[in-house]
Parts: sequence; structure tokens; C-alpha cells
Amino acid sequence: MREPPGASATSGPGSADRDSRESLEALIARARENERSLRRFQQQELRVIAANGFRELIETLLFQHRKTFGLDSVALALVDPEYEIRRALEAAKVEVGDYPDLMFMQNDLRLSAFYGGVPRPLLGKFDPAKHGFLFPRNLPLPGNVALLPLARHGRLIGSLNLGSNDQNRFTRDLATDFLEHLGAVVTVCVDNVCITERLKNISLTDPLTGVHNRRYFDERLREETGLGLRRRSPLVCLLLDIDHFKRINDGHGHQVGDWVLREVAGRIKSQLRLSDSLSRYGGEEFAALLSGTDEPQAMAIAERIRRSIADRPFELPEQVSLPVTLSVGLAALPSLPGTRGLDAAMRELVEAADRALYRAKDGGRNRVVSASTLSG
Ligand code: GH3
Ligand code: MG
Ligand code: MG
Repeated sequence: MREPPGASATSGPGSADRDSRESLEALIARARENERSLRRFQQQELRVIAANGFRELIETLLFQHRKTFGLDSVALALVDPEYEIRRALEAAKVEVGDYPDLMFMQNDLRLSAFYGGVPRPLLGKFDPAKHGFLFPRNLPLPGNVALLPLARHGRLIGSLNLGSNDQNRFTRDLATDFLEHLGAVVTVCVDNVCITERLKNISLTDPLTGVHNRRYFDERLREETGLGLRRRSPLVCLLLDIDHFKRINDGHGHQVGDWVLREVAGRIKSQLRLSDSLSRYGGEEFAALLSGTDEPQAMAIAERIRRSIADRPFELPEQVSLPVTLSVGLAALPSLPGTRGLDAAMRELVEAADRALYRAKDGGRNRVVSASTLSG
């Protein structure tokens, strides 16, 4: 037999109804909040996926995240043992100093120890002793954190660290599936950008010597000449060609020739500044672009390069010492007469350096000649 309605209720008729209505409303409110949350996460994930290149990705992760999720701090720590990411950022003209929330780690040891064997997002109260290394030192520290390990193929590549001053924002019992998903998307995107940059780097690098290749030189020449013309800032092009290189190949073999090429590239590079670029222009010929350097300064640098090769013979095994020299042709951008457009200026700069190189060879090799000293 069924009990009449309300017969066993102790708290009066209608109270059970009210309770269940309230809990239903609470459930609906939670479902709505979850839906809003899911939409926010999806939106943010789409932005991360759409980010084109390192700069956009970093800005999406660091700034957009903060805005979308109403966070007080967001920091990104990346494992970068070979400085590969930092070099790629430099190549993409991203100034790391502009992003204090972007941190680099030399290895994954600390992250691995922190996240343990199966990396999962960690949520809770900020503990400076435990979590301090995941946030930059000089900025205000959060009260509450969600820490997302970025793990790829079982290896930690970094950590995305979200911080809030709201003590109830990230509590230990909060479901972490949205965050786990976001972490997976961010991981793939960071890894992809790294791979793309690495490929770009490979396509612009000479495999034998490790310096840039001709393609890079052509791109950089256009960029630097454009800047030089617009800002009227000095730019110098050096063409450096190893003297009688054929004799080295003929006398000692192709492999020794290859080794000499690598050595010469290394010695030239060690005399240049980070902002200068060195490319292998052809077989045994290199090209350097020195921006912001005027002709007298460039002459001194070229002379130092020449001496760094001529003054120290190349040591082969079994005490064979191989004398190597090179000739350098130098041309400076502002001194070129009658320069009109960018293409003409680029062409004239390289042709002038080439004429100077030819004169250095003609004049006996192992010397530096500036195009400005040539008549006609
Ligand atoms: P010069 O002083 O007039 O420049 O004489 P050179 O012998 O250096 O110039 P030449 O152009 O006659 O010879 C360049 C040689 O460089 C010929 C070529 O076989 C060699 N070469 C080009 N690329 C490579 C390379 O990648 N490895 C080696 N081992 N040799 C190379
Ligand atoms: Mg040569
Ligand atoms: Mg040559």
C-alpha cells in the first residue's frame, strides 16, 4: 500500500518538494556553470591552436589566458636544455625580457620530481617552498594555483602555471578534466611551434659548417638593406673566400677540405657579434652582414678575421700543420653612389663586395680590400 502524501514527513508538507526543487536548481546552475566553463576552455583552446608562431602562442598563453579565465597570474616554464627555444625566439625577433612570466629550465629534473610519475594538474593553496620555482621571483605571488604539466611522449616539456588571489578558485576537490584537456592542447601547440622553428632553422642552415646558408643570406640581406636605407644606418657586407682551397682538397683529400671549411667558419664566427650574420655563400666562400657597423670598424673586424686564420695554422693529426689564408672583399651600404630602390641597393652592395674580393685575390690573396678604395 502506498502511503498518503506527506504521511511520514516530519518537516511538514511541501518541504521535500522544496528541497528537491532547490537541489534541482542547484544542479541546473552547476550544469550551466560547467557549460560556460567548457565554452571558455574551448574558446581558449581554439585560440591556442590558431596561434601562428612563437610570439602569438606565448601571448595567447600568458595574456589571453589571464583575461579569459580572470586570473591574477599566468606563468609558462619551458624545458630548454640546448637553448633551442631561446635561439628560435631570438630569430623570430621575440625579446625574452619582454615576457617576465616566461621561464626556461635547463632540464626536466625539478619538474619531474614535482609532478611525479604520472603528471596530472595540481590544484591548491600556493606554497612558496613547493611552487615558487614555477612563478617569476620579482612579481606578486598568487594565493591559489592550478599547475598544468606539459608532457609529451612521456617527457615533461614544461608547465603552465595559473594563479589566482581568490582562495576558493582552485581547490583540491575541483575536477581537473578541463584543465587536463587544456594542458594537452597547450603541450601539442608548444611542441609544434618548436618543431616548426627547428625545421625553419634547418632549412636556413648549412649542414657542413653549421652557419647559415645562402637562402638565409638572401633573406637577411633584403631585411638589413631595407632597414639600412630607411634608417640611414650603416651596413657592411663581407665576402670571404679561402685562398687556393682546391690545393687543400687536392693535397689532403676532400674530408680534410671539409674540416678546414668547418674550422674557418668557426674562426670567422668567433670574431663577429651576435647581431652579425654569417652564411656559407658558396663552396669555400662565406658572406657576413654587419649591421650598425661603419666601414673603419668593419675593416678592423675583417682584418681580425683574416689574422685569426692566417696566424694560426690548422693542425692535422700526426703533427701536420696546414697553413690556410683567406681574402676578404668589403662594401658598405651608405657610401654606394646612385642607390635607388631596395633591389638595386642589395645588388650593388654584393657586387661591390665581390669586386673588392676579386681585387684582393688579384693583389696576392690573404688580404682585405674595401670597395671604397677601388677606382671606377
Ligand atoms: P682562389 O684562391 O682563387 O679562391 O682558389 P680556390 O682554389 O680556393 O678556388 P676554386 O674556385 O678554384 O676552388 C674551390 C674549390 O672548393 C673547388 C671545390 O671542389 C671546392 N669545394 C667546394 N665546396 C666544397 C665542399 O663542400 N667541401 C670540399 N672539401 N671542397 C669543396
Ligand atoms: Mg677560394
Ligand atoms: Mg671561391
